[in-house]
This record gives sequence, structure tokens and C-alpha cells, in this order.
Amino acid sequence: MPKRFKQALCWIRRDLRLNDQRALAAATDSAESVAMVFVFDTLILNALADRDDRRLTFIHRCLTELDRKLRERGSALIVLHGDPKDEIPRLAQALSAEAVFTARDYEPYARSRDKEVSRRLYQLNIGLHSVKDSVIFEQGEVLNQSDAPFRTYTPYARAWRNQFVLARDASEAEAELECLSPLSTLKDWLTEWPLEKLGFEPADLWIEPGENAGLARLDEFADRIGQYAHDRDYPAIDGVSALSAYLRFGAVGIRQCVRMAVEHGEAGEKWLSELIWRDFYQDILANHPNVVEEPFQPQYKDLDYPGSEEGWEAWCKGETGYPIVDAAMRCFNATGWMHDRLRMIVASFLTKDLLVDYRKGEAYFARYLLDFDLASNNGGWQWAASVGCDAQPYFRIFNPILQSKKFDPDGKFIRQWLPELAALDNEAIHWPHNLPAFDLLAQGIELGNTYPHPVVDHATQRDLAIKLLSTVSKKG
Ligand code: FAD
Repeated sequence: MPKRFKQALCWIRRDLRLNDQRALAAATDSAESVAMVFVFDTLILNALADRDDRRLTFIHRCLTELDRKLRERGSALIVLHGDPKDEIPRLAQALSAEAVFTARDYEPYARSRDKEVSRRLYQLNIGLHSVKDSVIFEQGEVLNQSDAPFRTYTPYARAWRNQFVLARDASEAEAELECLSPLSTLKDWLTEWPLEKLGFEPADLWIEPGENAGLARLDEFADRIGQYAHDRDYPAIDGVSALSAYLRFGAVGIRQCVRMAVEHGEAGEKWLSELIWRDFYQDILANHPNVVEEPFQPQYKDLDYPGSEEGWEAWCKGETGYPIVDAAMRCFNATGWMHDRLRMIVASFLTKDLLVDYRKGEAYFARYLLDFDLASNNGGWQWAASVGCDAQPYFRIFNPILQSKKFDPDGKFIRQWLPELAALDNEAIHWPHNLPAFDLLAQGIELGNTYPHPVVDHATQRDLAIKLLSTVSKKG
């Protein structure tokens, strides 16, 4: 079939891969020659607080791998640094592209940026064609019986499963890679793009970035997926997939993950339900962009959290005197990674024990999480703070000591991140404060010196949190 366009651009953003890539497949379906481009968006980069931001290293290494793969096929990746609203139309015009293909991004900033890019391209007589890639179902596709978006996960997940058809919704998008534009036609645009030139420094990462590493991880996880339902809650066990950063940047696509889960039948069910949570939070963000600024439940909008600066700082540093919280925060500060169970524990502790505004914790995670995703992070924090859609009920407050005993029974995770407590036995490690000072000293521990006293009393704070949240909840 003759193609509609001679030349097109494929603008990648959160789909940094070559396999099963819908924007690329759509572009090569429609155009004889397709150039791939990524723009380091100065508006996003300038807002980052840390020059050694781990996300930049992750993205940079994904792009390096992608560029190598394209060069093996006689093409190359164009990498630009600037405002995409200027860069994309400029490049499209210079390459005489008649169309730009891209995958939809549902975050408020991305939506307004894409609208403006589309407007500017239109003035040049170039169309912006956007496709769905990063979710299975997007806004407006999973609706309740009144054709309205769901506000709670369980009925959403039921409807998601009822309408999901593997061969349609998770079909593999195959691009014609022979349509990639030859390097000779791109050479004016191929510059060096080391991280330093973008104003950033390489950071150490605990996972290997890139599509190859992501697919290898997915493969390796497929062998453990049957144990996921049990193992996923224990941070000391290799029980989860640790694919979130790959999914966030699209080094691995959501359809590949869903196909793998579905192919495992019953054994893949629990993992599939987590992937559906991801779609659910994207849906919430797309339908309620105001959640970026305020709670989903409006009655909590003006809630005044009375937490202290001292509590906030202790939480950030991992010095609260609650070993599981401190171990989680120290692991997070050192790596940019935190296990899901621990995210729930530390978020609950910050909002309900320390009574600090969830938005502060959300912003702290947003700054350091390698897998930071606006929709999932916002959803997770609002859930833990009991102010979100389908949130944890406000009166169900995690007891950090019981959580620690249940999910890190041998204290293995705590010992790894709090070596100063490593000598304690499996009971005392969860709460060393009950041991007599001389017993602790015998193990080299001096509370208030080698390890902090508890910054708050859980039972007292629990009552305060329930009082605070129930007063507002009744008003609502
Ligand atoms: P697995 O357990 O292997 O799950 C597979 C995938 O499903 C994950 O990679 C992720 O894409 C998705 N997923 C799993 N759980 C959830 C969930 N509760 N909500 C949405 N998607 C989910 N996840 C992020 O990807 N980015 C975030 O910024 C983020 N912030 C969070 C903040 C808080 C306070 C909480 C409680 C959770 C947050 N999560 C976030 C969800 C979850 O903790 C991570 O997705 C998970 O820990 C990633 O590890 P994994 O890849 O091994 O997940």
C-alpha cells in the first residue's frame, strides 16, 4: 500500500524503546522514512533540584542504547536540548517532515505542551498524530454504567478485566525498522549530547538502564511471578519485579508486561492487578488533574497538619527512632528506590504519626524516586494519607512496629540499612527502646547517641491523627 507521507518524525518521551512501540509503528506504517527524536526539555530540566538527578542518568543511558540500536540499522537518534514547543516544529520543518507521531502523555504539563506543539505544527501544515502507548486503557475507555469514570479501584479493575481482550488491547506493535531515515539525511542534527553538556552529572544507579536490561528483568521475573502474591510484601526478599523505572520511561512497555502476566494465568493474577492500579491512577489523574494540587476528597482541602519541623527532618534523614521507617528512608536516600510495603509504611508514618502534610512527602519522593511517576506517586500518597480516591480509611493506621515484625520478621532489611542495630536479636531489632540501657550498651548501642530516641509516641499520635481526620471527615 502506498504510504501517506514521504517523511515523518517519531518524537519519543516516555517510550524509550524499539520493541512494541506504538508511535514508531504508526509512523512507519504511514511514512516512507521516519526519523526518531528525543528532546531534553529545558522546562523540566531547569526545575530539577539536583545536578546528579538519577532520572537523567537513567534516561541518558536508555537513549544511548537506543541510538546504538538505530546506528546498527543505518540510522541514528536525534537528541535535542531545548523547549520542545520550538524544537519539534523546527526539526520537522528542516527535515521536510509531513507528520509527527508521538505517544500520549496524560500529565497536565505534557498535555498543555503537546497542545501548543500541535498548534505550531498545524501552522506549518504538519500534523501531530498521537497514539496510546503507556497504558492499556486511557481516559474515557473504562467507564461505569452511567458512562462516568470510576472513583474506586475494585469496580474499575472489574470493568478493566471484563473489557480487556489480549489480542486487541495488548497486541504487539511492530514497526518497519527498514523505514528508519538513513544517517546521511540526519547528520546536520546529530550532535554530541553528554550529560555534562545538559548541565548534569552521571549518578550511580542500582539497576541497569535500557530496554535490554528491562526485558531481561521481565524475563527473570516471569520465573518468580507465581510467588509474587506471597513474596511481594517482604522487602528483604527479591519478591517484586522492580520494573517500575523501566515502565515509567517506557524502556519496557506496559503491553509486554500485561501479556506476560496474562500468559501465566492464575499465577499472574496478582501482578496483573498491580498493573491495573497503574492504569487506574493514570485515569484518576487524567480525569481529575486538580489532584496534583489538592486532595481528591475535597473536605480535606484546607486540613491544617500540625506536624513539627523536627519530625519532618527526622523522617527525611531516617532518624525517627522507628527502625523500619529509618531503614526504609536510608535505603531510599542512598538508592532512589523503596519497596512498596515500605512506601506505605513511611507515608503513613509521616502523615499520621508525624502529622505532616502528605504533599511534603509526595514532593520528597518526587525529587528522589528513580521511578517517580506523577499519577502513581500522587495516588500512593493520597491513599496513605486517607485523603485520596479509594484511600486507606482514616481510622486504619499502620503500627510501624507491628508492620516491621510482620514484614521483616528476621530484621534482615533493618540490619542491612541500620548496621548500628545489627547486633540486636530478631525481637529487639524492631523496637530497641524497651531494652535496658546496659543490655544495649553491651551491643554497642547508646540510644540518643548511636541510634535516636523515638521522635514521637505512636499510640499518642494515632489518637491525634484519628481526631484530626475524623473532625474533617464528618464535616465532608
Ligand atoms: P511490582 O510490585 O512488581 O508491580 C509491577 C508494576 O505495577 C510496578 O512497576 C508499577 O508500574 C505498577 N504498580 C505496582 N503497585 C502500584 C501501585 N500501588 N500504584 C500504581 N502502580 C503500581 N509507583 C511508581 O511507579 N511511581 C511512583 O512514583 C510511585 N510512588 C508511590 C508512592 C507511595 C506513597 C506509594 C504507597 C506507592 C507508590 N508507587 C509508585 C507504587 C508502588 O510502590 C511502585 O509501583 C512499586 O513499588 C514499584 O516496584 P515494582 O516495579 O517492583 O512493582
